[in-house]
Amino acid sequence: MKLRGKTALITGASRGIGYAAAELFLREGAAVAICAASEQSAAVAKESLLKAVPAGRVYAQAADVSQNADCEAFAQNAFKEFGTIDILINNAGITKDTLMLRMKEADFDAVINVNLKGAFLMSKAAVKFMMKGAEGSIVNMSSVVGQTGNAGQVNYAASKAGLIGLTKAMAKEFASRNIRVNAVAPGFVNTDMTNALSEALKAEVLKSIPLKKFAQAADIAKAVLFLACGDAGYITGQILAVNGGLYI
Ligand code: NAP
Repeated sequence: MKLRGKTALITGASRGIGYAAAELFLREGAAVAICAASEQSAAVAKESLLKAVPAGRVYAQAADVSQNADCEAFAQNAFKEFGTIDILINNAGITKDTLMLRMKEADFDAVINVNLKGAFLMSKAAVKFMMKGAEGSIVNMSSVVGQTGNAGQVNYAASKAGLIGLTKAMAKEFASRNIRVNAVAPGFVNTDMTNALSEALKAEVLKSIPLKKFAQAADIAKAVLFLACGDAGYITGQILAVNGGLYI
């Protein structure tokens, strides 16, 4: 077990990649605190995680990562529950896609606030507790779109490119505290987020992926686990692409 005795906070873990990471982390022996946008989805996820890993320790609550008070409360509650915070996965993310000339200012702000500012706020809240321990690890969820850009996603691409800068700067700031900060940049993953795309667009995207398939959430969770655990103990400030060769 790679995470025995560790406590991990995972944002946006009611579904998709965050949920897959939570389940894998539990199997690897971590106590896991999850949050989601809605109270109900957090509670349902907790129940389902405990069904999958009955011996697991799970804490769940609603927390909007774009709100500082929610981030502070989530970190505090998780610390109260488990006594340490060793790992933070900034995974919560949303899309509000449309071409730039049609994009409303509010939709630009909403995506930046959840995807980018959320990782800043949540990291600030969690690092205070992480510094009480001997080491820590933060993994931010970027995207191939942050590396390549994508028409119809200026807000999302900017947020995911911003996470790359945030990751590198945080890695430099927190190295002296033995806290590593890395990012995963997935390509297209089978989750609710991509299920929203039209079949025609999915077929088009598939043609451009050298491995000729979308990732499963579990594929991304394995990369997150690698960066979060001791196997990556000498890796910080890096962006791990998990994209089937879509961007090399
Ligand atoms: P998803 O299935 O749409 O799930 C999103 C999760 O984020 C849910 O748990 C949702 O909670 C939560 N969430 C949404 N807004 C939130 C907020 N303001 N505060 C806290 N939690 C919030 O997403 P996914 O596809 O697994 O994506 C996870 C991450 O990977 C995102 O950052 C995404 O940008 C990134 N990513 C995804 C892909 C892909 O192809 N799917 C590719 C590259 C990167 P509720 O259930 O309560 O709504």
